[in-house]
Amino acid sequence: MLKVYNTLTRKLEEFHPIHEKENRVYMFVCGPTVYDSPHVGHARSYVAYDVIAKYLRYKGWSLFYVQNITDIDDKIIRRAQETGKTWKEIAREYEEEYHRAMKRLFVDSVNLYARATEHIPEIIDQIKRLMEKGYAYETEDGVYFDITKFPEYGKLSGQRLEDLMAGARVEVNENKRHPYDFALWKKAKPGEPTWESPWGPGRPGWHIEDTAISERYLGQQYDLHGGGMDLIFPHHECEIAQMEAISGKKPFVRYWLHNGFLEVNGEKMSKSLKNFWTIEDVLKKVRPEALRYFLLSTHYRSPINFSDENLEQAQKAWEGLAKTVRKLKKLAKDGKEGEPREQVVEALEDIRKRWEDAMDDDFNTPKALAVLHDWATLVNREVVESGLKEEAGMALEILEKWDTVLTLFRSILESDGGVSEELVEGLMRIIITVRQKLREQKLYEISDWIRAELGNLGIQLNDRGKETTWEMT
Ligand SMILES: [Zn+2]
Repeated sequence: MLKVYNTLTRKLEEFHPIHEKENRVYMFVCGPTVYDSPHVGHARSYVAYDVIAKYLRYKGWSLFYVQNITDIDDKIIRRAQETGKTWKEIAREYEEEYHRAMKRLFVDSVNLYARATEHIPEIIDQIKRLMEKGYAYETEDGVYFDITKFPEYGKLSGQRLEDLMAGARVEVNENKRHPYDFALWKKAKPGEPTWESPWGPGRPGWHIEDTAISERYLGQQYDLHGGGMDLIFPHHECEIAQMEAISGKKPFVRYWLHNGFLEVNGEKMSKSLKNFWTIEDVLKKVRPEALRYFLLSTHYRSPINFSDENLEQAQKAWEGLAKTVRKLKKLAKDGKEGEPREQVVEALEDIRKRWEDAMDDDFNTPKALAVLHDWATLVNREVVESGLKEEAGMALEILEKWDTVLTLFRSILESDGGVSEELVEGLMRIIITVRQKLREQKLYEISDWIRAELGNLGIQLNDRGKETTWEMT
């Protein structure tokens, strides 16, 4: 039985979706604000929910998983002003980079990505209903949600509205009635992108985009909502207020899931501390599977410590497992004929069960990875030793099923033994690094020769400052 830790009740609960009889599960996860390159904090969060989504499908649920893309907000506007680009150019550019990074990390479980700016009618419609019901009011600079009309505000983060109000700082925005009232609609300021609305031109607040999108695709109540712990308050609190005020139905979301932070060498990751890692930076050092393995080696609710050392360890652990998988794959094809031995069949069945128990325990991936290592030990000690084709086939089948969730060995499992895209990528990375070192030592003749030879093979190198990328021409 799958158990899920629910932030709303602060308990581990048995998982029973709203449409249990129809076998359907609906999930929403807060997507990125696309104003910069995706970093390892994003990887942490989205790999975690990718595995959660895939495990729900593994258990037989028909899951519909939606993620929003925040493609308009202060940071995007600021970035546009700084670079001389339009908000749309910035948003689309970084959204594309986000999708590229997710694809490399094998994050492919999301059914629908929904952009905020493509749901303005739904957003306006929700604000209108909040106004009609008396939960929202208009001011000179926007439309706000009146939190005193929703006494349960604070229930997700375990705070009481009175305490929040009492502890509030002196109000800076004189337009608002209460300090914790939040913007549903922001009226246009000079130079900002705008959309038409009953309250004049402007743009949506951040919290309303999620409920507008989720109401459209998942309904007024659904099963799972995920995001980083930093989103519990006020973001998710505001979502609850908006949707429960509109629908009158509780709870808006049955299970609230929150992932822990990512720290770098024990410190918060930030650009000013110069310990900032984009996903691309990391993937120059290790393969995507190793990063995935590293992220899954900590439980999704716990903080994770990112460091070169931990990353290298993960790469080593992954390589060890990968070796076993390759051997096993070969054996399953060319192994010896013969009946599988009963003790091996039993041991495999026991391991399979333990893996599911681990995942049923609030998606405990570190435990599941430990079981994966037990599996590898058994395979090496028994199956490789016996060389029996049928035993190898059974062990491989278990791994293939697990890998629909973990997605750590897809490149090996799907490879036909020929040259893979992965291998080419890896070799190109080596060539480019060697060429960079040559250039640093001013050995231009040989570095130009490399460029020319690659050109003959139809591979073009593009040097942009210190970065070199490649493409097939
Ligand atoms: Zn959100």
